[in-house]
Amino acid sequence: MSNVPVAVVTGSNKGIGFAIVRALCKQFPGDVYLTARDPGRGQEAVAKLQKEGLCALFHQLDIDDLQSIRALRDFLKEKYGGLNVLVNNAGIAFKVHDTTPFAVQAEVTLKTNFFGTRNVCTELLPLVKPYGKVVNVSSMVSSSALGGCSRELQQKFRSETITEDELVELMTKFVEDTKKSVHEKEGWPNTAYGVSKIGVTVLSRIQARMLNEKRKGDHILLNACCPGWVRTDMAGPKATKSPDEGAETPVYLALLPSDADSPHGQFLSNKTVRTW
Ligand code: NAP
Repeated sequence: MSNVPVAVVTGSNKGIGFAIVRALCKQFPGDVYLTARDPGRGQEAVAKLQKEGLCALFHQLDIDDLQSIRALRDFLKEKYGGLNVLVNNAGIAFKVHDTTPFAVQAEVTLKTNFFGTRNVCTELLPLVKPYGKVVNVSSMVSSSALGGCSRELQQKFRSETITEDELVELMTKFVEDTKKSVHEKEGWPNTAYGVSKIGVTVLSRIQARMLNEKRKGDHILLNACCPGWVRTDMAGPKATKSPDEGAETPVYLALLPSDADSPHGQFLSNKTVRTW
């Protein structure tokens, strides 16, 4: 088993994830894994970095596929005895003018952005070594979507005692409510992406609390962040930040020094803690 530190970035064959891998290759003192659901696209991305003189390693990971997540888990356990940095970046968004029925958009978006990310956390968080860092890429849209929720839902999502099971129940209820076309009546905002990112931000707050309760002495720091509005296939060419600029806050959180005890359980943008 290797003692080399190891970092893993999900959904990193392109966009912000790719830029996060690029920055980690330059700054992280260990092995950096570029992961992708499609091995062809993943290997192509690794080759692109190689041309820049950077050495990323590749492992397949489809966050929608539990078997794929568990294969990565077993690989990390076997080869490194755990992991030091996990960046949950993989995500999807339907385009604004997409005519796919809203209930389908809700199911598909929540499946990857919330349930997929949660499954990765369930399998990989127990492997994170002392002084490790976990970064969940959410979005400022989670804050605006929170503002669009009913007062009762806002209270639940801001609660300091909400459990992961309760959050899963709420995310499941959103999908069910869209199928019955009652989501707005039930207090939800009209954005599947926004609700999925509420899920990611609240999940991060819960996970940080759990680390405090169960692994206090391990000094693991876990946060959610927004990369900003970034020129990628998801956000389009009019966005204000380059992918490298979008990677700055996630990379800052992934490389917090080992003597730092904060931020932890926070939501950040532009390297600044935001009020939830
Ligand atoms: P992007 O260019 O569309 O890249 C998304 C990445 O996620 C791709 O590598 C994609 O792989 C991967 N992915 C999607 N579903 C996956 C799955 N099931 N398993 C594994 N990988 C999967 O988007 P981006 O703009 O870089 O977004 C990265 C993250 O930042 C997302 O979480 C997004 O919500 C968040 N974000 C972006 C912005 C922005 O302005 N761009 C703003 C706020 C937050 P494929 O190539 O195989 O599809």
